[in-house]
Amino acid sequence: MQSRFKGKTVLVTGASAGIGEAIAVRFAQEGASVAINYSRNDAGAESTAGQVRDAHDAGGHSDANVLIHKADVSDESAVKGMFAALLKDWDRLDILINNAGIQKEAHSHQSLSEDFDRILGVNLRGCYLCCREALAHFLSRPGGGVIVNNSSVHEIIPKPGYLPYSVSKGGMENLTRTLGLEYAERGIRVNAVGPGAIITPINRSWINDPEKKRIVESHIPMGRAGESEEIAAVFAFLASDEASYITGQTLFACGGLTLFPEFRTTWSS
Ligand code: NAP
Repeated sequence: MQSRFKGKTVLVTGASAGIGEAIAVRFAQEGASVAINYSRNDAGAESTAGQVRDAHDAGGHSDANVLIHKADVSDESAVKGMFAALLKDWDRLDILINNAGIQKEAHSHQSLSEDFDRILGVNLRGCYLCCREALAHFLSRPGGGVIVNNSSVHEIIPKPGYLPYSVSKGGMENLTRTLGLEYAERGIRVNAVGPGAIITPINRSWINDPEKKRIVESHIPMGRAGESEEIAAVFAFLASDEASYITGQTLFACGGLTLFPEFRTTWSS
């Protein structure tokens, strides 16, 4: 394992489970001090913190530490409070990972406006609020900074039955591109990762049902769902200096889902 983040600090939102947990551990393996954000799952956040400490110990990163910040990212005052507390502990934040996200299935014509507001609130407004605080901090001291957002293949592929989720990820693309352009000349890079179907609790409807999992995987060109660690590796790349000339982009890590799999065999010419 490389140590690309030795001496760096990273805040990962939604790190009490799933992809966020894997991202927190990956950055710890590479030497970063890690702040774990979450909103409800206290035991999950503690578990991630334990794995982060273990990763620091295993990698000999005795200078790195771990913080836990419980805050609903859709709540403006909670986000401001989280950044104020974090910057008191650390003085400096180098990397923000906007990972927190939720989804809910509903036929659009029967869906509830409060669900629309809630999903947009967490997935998109939460990302905006955390970006705003991080950008203000990055600009307040030398050295720039990095933001990587967790988008989805549904940034570009419609997801019927999940309208607010699709809208939130489509919005995240433009947020990423706009901030990438707005802050490019000030040493701040803003990118996104677009995962496909990844084995995490958000997909509890199919990950533990072999038949449903088989059906999901039959649609994926690489023939399998992804692991959180495979996505965390992409976050680490985009946050590292190896991606120093990349901004405003979404890098899809999806086993080929964005390649129009229906065109795998010739039927249209
Ligand atoms: P997950 O296992 O359900 O984890 C979601 C995380 O977000 C949890 O740690 C949860 O913590 C946190 N969270 C939810 N609401 C929050 C809020 N209001 N404030 C702060 N944290 C909050 O989901 P996942 O699959 O890892 O998904 C993570 C991200 O990846 C999401 O943005 C999702 O859209 C994206 N993604 C996932 C997949 C996939 O197949 N899994 C594919 C594409 C994109 P608490 O419960 O403690 O609040």
